[in-house]
Amino acid sequence: MNSLSQYACDHLAELLKGFGLAAATPLSNWIDGALVAGEGEEITLINSATGEALVSYCDAGTALIERATQAATRGQREWMALTASERGRRMNAAIRGLEGHEEALAQLESVVAGKPIRDCRAEVGKVREMFEYYAGWCDKQHGEVIPVPTSHLNYVRHVPYGVVGQITPWNAPMFTCAWQLAPAIAAGNGVVLKPSELTPFSSVVIAQLLECSGKFGQGLPKGLINIVNGLGKSTGAALTDHPTISKLVFVGSPQSGRMIAEAGARRLVPSVLELGGKSANIVFADAKLDEAVAGAQAAIFAAAGQSCVAGSRLLIERSVFEQVTSRLARAAEQIAVGLPSDEATRMGPLQNRRQFEQVTRMIEAAEAAGARVLTGGKRPEGLPDEAHGYFIAPTVLVEVTPDMEIAQQEVFGPVLIAMAFNDEAEAIQLANETRFGLAGAVWSQDVARAHRVAGQLRAGTVWINSYKAISVMSPFGGFGDSGFGRSSGLDGLREYTVPQSVWVETAPEASVAFGYGSGVG
Ligand code: NAD
Repeated sequence: MNSLSQYACDHLAELLKGFGLAAATPLSNWIDGALVAGEGEEITLINSATGEALVSYCDAGTALIERATQAATRGQREWMALTASERGRRMNAAIRGLEGHEEALAQLESVVAGKPIRDCRAEVGKVREMFEYYAGWCDKQHGEVIPVPTSHLNYVRHVPYGVVGQITPWNAPMFTCAWQLAPAIAAGNGVVLKPSELTPFSSVVIAQLLECSGKFGQGLPKGLINIVNGLGKSTGAALTDHPTISKLVFVGSPQSGRMIAEAGARRLVPSVLELGGKSANIVFADAKLDEAVAGAQAAIFAAAGQSCVAGSRLLIERSVFEQVTSRLARAAEQIAVGLPSDEATRMGPLQNRRQFEQVTRMIEAAEAAGARVLTGGKRPEGLPDEAHGYFIAPTVLVEVTPDMEIAQQEVFGPVLIAMAFNDEAEAIQLANETRFGLAGAVWSQDVARAHRVAGQLRAGTVWINSYKAISVMSPFGGFGDSGFGRSSGLDGLREYTVPQSVWVETAPEASVAFGYGSGVG
């Protein structure tokens, strides 16, 4: 093992010890208010920067899913026995459990996920934001009164599903964990969440800090939140198939999303799918080009392109195509690519070998199909000798046609394709020419045109003269292969409740109709 790998292993061991997860095999689950080791096959995590082993833990397996669902059922009953305002107070109290642990949590994520430390610190901040926002919703989930044409008082209230199952990916483990946990419990549900097998620990630590901050009894009830770690095919499948789970919320690839939706459909359980993207970033010639170039660069190269909303297709008006692409290539070459632990690093390695191989293969296939690499496409220069992990330099491809795989499929890496368009109609056509529909952006100083184009994009989120502005307050989700259902905001909260209609007879002498009553059916 080289010295970089050894340093990361030692650092991780210290962090796991600090959070109480250290044991013969790390305690990789949080179930019924306690840390628990997995019982299934061993899973070895690999250091993204060096490609060498980092730590091993054990798959949770079916028996732990059973324990977790039972705990969530008990925790949810206790939670719903509280008043709505008390639940809000306790969520706010729970988030204070993270105080003083933010830096260690960011370090833990940086080592395991291979993400730049500065990005991990920002992600911890998002956890807090999401809990604070949804804590505020606890006592504001009003029902409605419907003016029915009979003597009844008819009201609707929004009731929780019970226990929900959540599955998250490896690219933003803390963000996606808090993104789904917070609305689920604010709506009154118990939760069993399975993070990606590649990034197991941060969600366990978050759940532990949240639940323990009130020391059970003043904070979140024991068992309200359970985190189980393991492979999709074993622990993930046991979760989606478990009869207690009455709603599935999945964040991940379209391929796995289909399996999750199918598993839900078999049991008639609804699902929310937050899947991948191939988002179009449209630059008109009248845009402020300095800002458009900076925006395009951040849209694709932040998180090494491992972001569902990555602006991976840059559509540029033909008259400024050469100018924008050459400026972008120069800007891409300036990005500080380096070790996740280095404070100066803006872009780290890809998270895992499978992703690295997929990105490499897709670049090669694009070149074979006629695309030209303007910059990147290979290992970046200037890395330490021992960093022979999954690094790929920021890459810009031109001479791409819309029918190529690289123009249609999600790369999930630091790879931007640039294509030219002649007019507004062609820009819209190109933008909508994929099966995905997660996000998109329009850069133009013509306000009317910017709104006109935004309105015609088949995308769940559209930015104008901006990219990646995302808030927990605003709904987020996709069309087509990017999934269905919404997260964030009130729409995200409503995904975790079912409207229940209650009819109360108010007439002094109630008459119960036989059938639908007069005038109906
Ligand atoms: P993935 O689909 O391979 O895995 C996601 C999760 O699903 C993991 O926890 C995995 O263990 C689990 N899983 C896989 N098969 C399963 C099965 N049969 N049953 C139950 N669980 C199963 O995705 P990934 O590679 O981890 O993440 C990358 C993908 O996630 C990209 O496509 C990216 O765009 C997408 N993503 C989407 C959003 C969004 O909000 N739309 C956010 C982040 C990532």
